[in-house]
Amino acid sequence: MAQLSDDCFAFGGPMMSVDEAVDLITTRVNAIVDLETVALVDADGRVLARDVAAPLPLPPFTNSAVDGYAVRNADLPASAEQAFPLDGRIQAGGLAQAPIKPGHTARIFTGAPMPPDAETVFMQEDVRIDASGRIVLPPGLKPGANVRPAGEDIPQGQVALRAGQRLRPQHVALAAAFGLAKLDVVRRIRVAVFSTGDELASPGEPRAASQLFDSNRFMLMAMLRRLGCEVSDLGILRDERASLARGLKQVAGDHDLILTTGGVSTGEEDHVKAAVESIGSLVLWRMAIKPGRPVAMGIIDGTPLIGLPGNPVASFVTFVHVVRPTVLALSGALPEPLLPIPLRAAFTYKKKSGRREYVRASLRRALDGGLEAIKFPREGAGLLSSLVETDGLVELGEDITNVEPGQDVGFLPYASLI
Ligand code: AMP
Ligand code: MG
Repeated sequence: MAQLSDDCFAFGGPMMSVDEAVDLITTRVNAIVDLETVALVDADGRVLARDVAAPLPLPPFTNSAVDGYAVRNADLPASAEQAFPLDGRIQAGGLAQAPIKPGHTARIFTGAPMPPDAETVFMQEDVRIDASGRIVLPPGLKPGANVRPAGEDIPQGQVALRAGQRLRPQHVALAAAFGLAKLDVVRRIRVAVFSTGDELASPGEPRAASQLFDSNRFMLMAMLRRLGCEVSDLGILRDERASLARGLKQVAGDHDLILTTGGVSTGEEDHVKAAVESIGSLVLWRMAIKPGRPVAMGIIDGTPLIGLPGNPVASFVTFVHVVRPTVLALSGALPEPLLPIPLRAAFTYKKKSGRREYVRASLRRALDGGLEAIKFPREGAGLLSSLVETDGLVELGEDITNVEPGQDVGFLPYASLI
C-alpha cells in the first residue's frame, strides 16, 4: 500500500493555489511499485511499468507505399517519358524477388518488399501502358518517392514507449507492431469510495421524503474507473463521528487511497474531519478554486485519504485537480498536465482575483467559423444539469477579474479531464 507519513499533506500557506496542490501531491505521494503482466488486449488504460525499446525497426523492411511500378534510381526518366519492359511482380506478403534487370520495372503493391536494388516507385495512376505492353513512366519523379525505408518510423533499439505512459489505443498499436503479446504494467490502484450524509439514499433503495439519491459516489467511481482504478464501493456513511471513523479505519489497510464526498465543510454536521483526526491525521486544504470548498487531505495507517466536498459540481472539479493527480502519482504515471484550448468567450463574467474559477460552458461555432464558449445560464454548485448539458470547463486564471464577449479564454473539454 501507499504508506505515507502523517504530515505529508501539511501546507503552510493560507490559501492553496491549484498549482501548489498539484505540486504538493506529485512530490509527496509515493508511486506503487507492484507490477503485473497483462495481455495486450487488456492493456488499454493501464500504466506501463518499464520502457519499451523497439525490438525491431518499423517498418521492419523497406516497402512500397503505393500500388505501382518499382525502378532503380539510375533508370529514372530525366526529361522525357520512357517505356520500360516489365520484370517481376511483388505482392504484399510476397518475397522480395531478385534484383530488377537494369532498364526494367517491376509491378509492386502497397506494403510489398522493395526489390534489393530498386529505390523508387511510380504510382500506377501516373503511368500508362503502351501498345507493346511496356510501362511508360513520366519524367521528374523524386528519387526514393513512394518508398517506406526500414526503420523510418522507429529505428531498432530506440525507446518507443516510456515507463509511466498511460496506455491509449495508439500505444497498444505500437506494442502490437513490435510483436509484443504482453506488457508489464503497474497494478491497478485500489480506491475505497464512501459517500457521507444522512440525507443520502442509494439508487435502488427506498428514499425518505427528506432524502436525495447519492449521485456523487457513482460519478466518482466512474471517474476513477476511467483512470484505471479498481474501486471498492463502500456505500454511504452516516453523519456520525464514530461510525465514520470505524468505516474508514476498516478499509485503510487494503486500499491505496480512500475517497469520500461530503461532510468536509466546517458545519456542526460535517464529521469527516473529526473522524479522520480520531484515527489518523487530517488537514483541510483551503484551495483557491471555485467551485470547490475545503478539500480534506489525510492519512490513516499510511493510506492517503481525500475528502471531497458534497456539492456535485464542486466534487467534480476538485476530483479533477486533486484526485486525478493523486491517482496518477500513485500509479507512477507521467504527469498529464491539463492544457486548456484557447477559444473565444461568448459571455460576460466577473470574478475575484487570486482564485481560479471553472465555468461550465458549451461550444458553439461562431459566424466566422471560430469556436466560442457559451456559459451555462445558472451557477449553483449543486446543479447536475450544468455538467450534463455543457461540453467542458472554461478555466479563468487567478489574475483574471472579468470576461467580456470575444475575449480569449482557455477551455478544458470534459473528455480531456480523465
Ligand atoms: P456537504 O458537503 O456534506 O455539506 O454537502 C453539500 C451539499 O451536497 C448538500 O446539499 C448535500 O446534500 C449534497 N451532497 C452531499 N453528498 C452528496 C452525494 N453523494 N450526492 C449528491 N449530493 C450530495
Ligand atoms: Mg453532508
